[in-house]
Amino acid sequence: MKIIRHQTPAGPAYATLQPDGSAREITGDLFGSFRATDKVVKPGKILAPIAPPNILAIGLNYRKHAEEGGKGVPERPMLFIKSTNSLQNPGDPIELPRKLASQEVDYECELAVVIGKTCKNATRANALDFVLGYTAANDVSARDWQMRLNGGQFCEGKSFDTFCPMGPVLVTKDEIPNPNSLAIKTILNGHAMQDWNTSDMVFDVPALIEFLSGSKTLLPGTVILTGTPHGVGYARKPPVFLNPGDTVTIEIEGIGSLTNPVVEERV
Ligand code: MG
Repeated sequence: MKIIRHQTPAGPAYATLQPDGSAREITGDLFGSFRATDKVVKPGKILAPIAPPNILAIGLNYRKHAEEGGKGVPERPMLFIKSTNSLQNPGDPIELPRKLASQEVDYECELAVVIGKTCKNATRANALDFVLGYTAANDVSARDWQMRLNGGQFCEGKSFDTFCPMGPVLVTKDEIPNPNSLAIKTILNGHAMQDWNTSDMVFDVPALIEFLSGSKTLLPGTVILTGTPHGVGYARKPPVFLNPGDTVTIEIEGIGSLTNPVVEERV
């Protein structure tokens, strides 16, 4: 099932996206019991598919990306947090920060795991039982703030407004039996910049859920960004950073395409 979240006069609502492009109403609680009905709805503005209580992100989780950064493969999953203000809708702009300025804003295609029910101390064997589904995300990163201007903590450079585009659809896990065998790509202005496969993850999706839930409760709706493959802008020679007028598309096999324009923040 492909699920979208869209704006209605009564607030955000969920619907299924049908193969013919039509949408049908979902009733109930996506994180409790819900029902996909036959009632056709005309979607309003398409929103990020969930409004997560937490966005947990993993660094250096693809082998070739860990190599290109010169940091080596980590012993354990390397966690940082993207604050929820960074969430952005499909089609809405990534804003290049100009008040707290960055000249090094970069893209990262990521498979996003959406947790469906409260999860603590999961095992590798039952980890996927806690997953509702998957979506696409762009872990947009101000490299100067991530690496040099904030004491080495990633959170600042990863948490600017609009730095976490997500969607457009949430694909339920029954359609993706193995999340670690998906083609994943970033296309910048029509050129493929990252083009790899989620099979290269150092810690696969069950391992990430087991690790993260071993110390913290994963609330329903929590999003786990699972890391990005090689080909990021800062590691290229010469480096490539986002500029006003650019268009960034994240494509993941079985999920779809997430496209956002790039603009300057208005200050
Ligand atoms: Mg990332």
